[in-house]
Amino acid sequence: MEDRVAPALLDWYDRQARALPWRLPPGAAGPPDPYRVWLAEVMLQQTTVAAVVPRYRRFLDRWPDIAALAAAPPEAVMAEWAGLGYYSRARNLVACARAVAERGGFPESEAALRALPGLGAYTAAAVAAIAFGRRAVVVDANVERVVARLFALDDPLPGARKPIRAAADAITPAARPGDFAQAMMDLGATVCLPRGPDCLLCPLATLCAARAEGRQEGLPVRAARRARPERRGAAWWIERDGQVLLVTRPAKGPLGAMRALPDDGWSVHGDGSGAPPCAGEWIPLGRVRHGFTHFVLDLAVLAHRGPLPRDLPEGEWVALKDLAAAGLPRLFALAADLATGPPHSPRRSDDPAAKDQPQRRDGQHDQAEIAPAIGPRQRARADPGDGDRQHEPVAPAQKRDRRRDGQQQRDNAERDGEQVQHGVLPS
Ligand code: SF4
Repeated sequence: MEDRVAPALLDWYDRQARALPWRLPPGAAGPPDPYRVWLAEVMLQQTTVAAVVPRYRRFLDRWPDIAALAAAPPEAVMAEWAGLGYYSRARNLVACARAVAERGGFPESEAALRALPGLGAYTAAAVAAIAFGRRAVVVDANVERVVARLFALDDPLPGARKPIRAAADAITPAARPGDFAQAMMDLGATVCLPRGPDCLLCPLATLCAARAEGRQEGLPVRAARRARPERRGAAWWIERDGQVLLVTRPAKGPLGAMRALPDDGWSVHGDGSGAPPCAGEWIPLGRVRHGFTHFVLDLAVLAHRGPLPRDLPEGEWVALKDLAAAGLPRLFALAADLATGPPHSPRRSDDPAAKDQPQRRDGQHDQAEIAPAIGPRQRARADPGDGDRQHEPVAPAQKRDRRRDGQQQRDNAERDGEQVQHGVLPS
């Protein structure tokens, strides 16, 4: 059966390939630009095609080639990356661009690509196959699903990745490996969907073991997910003359090197200290609940009230009107919203990357939750003597952002522990 998969799939791809801005159509002359292939693959790792397309175009407008990106200030790339997933990918994007520019172009082999900053096994294989026509086994979440069904592999993920990869290797052809990889991605994104695979339209239907056994809906099997530990922390809103104090987070750790509100040192390993960064009275504004890959953070947000002391933390004052463009990661953008009210920060509804938030490789969905303790306008109006404001009723619950997408998303085991989850807390 293995040798019949590629011809059937490539024949389908020649007729049904999706037109995407980083792709050349099947049969087009010349290889695609490796810079564009690489950029798209990195963007698509945590975000869907629909969300990536406008962001990809905007990114290319700013940095049209590897030399331009290599010369870009990292903080500008980080800000442009907001809403596209792990910020470490943006840092690595710049590091990789500089390494590639220095050596005069992308290497062509999978092994040499793998040695570049931020290129994991998936991205290296995808770039080698798509941009350079090298035979490489390209396995993302969509391909995992297709292969698990095609071979009716019962082992639960993530343990099943090894046999899935071996099966994917067995069907990967030496000719047109890039088209084959993209055809598998397209099949997973448009036909072999997580729920309701459209087997009647599938070019592999007669070869598919799961379909023959009527088990396609139940594959791949996923192991039960372990509960993540919960951490508690606090973030501090310090405002002066229409400006708020922002700090730059340490380079290592969650949301590394990003702009943020001062906080109390929470981490993947433990709670924050709860100690404010300077003397004064602090008003609770609410909480943001935020899921990282390895833990869930319950972040209290408190605002300073009264005259500012001299012992302020080191940071920069950013005008409230400029906050939306400050590139705050979503955790702190939501915290800022508790203080200022939307839409001072990029909102999910305004964020093209957020309209179609990816389904994670493990089938979980991203969410964060926010519970205001006091309305932002109420806080703005509160005079210094109105200590009861903090006890006003909490806003009603708003559930949001529990979305499915079932579209192309390539969370490819290169994740680095910064993944966030978004939503709204019940009050
Ligand atoms: S026949 Fe159905 S389950 Fe099998 S690969 Fe095609 S769409 Fe997926």
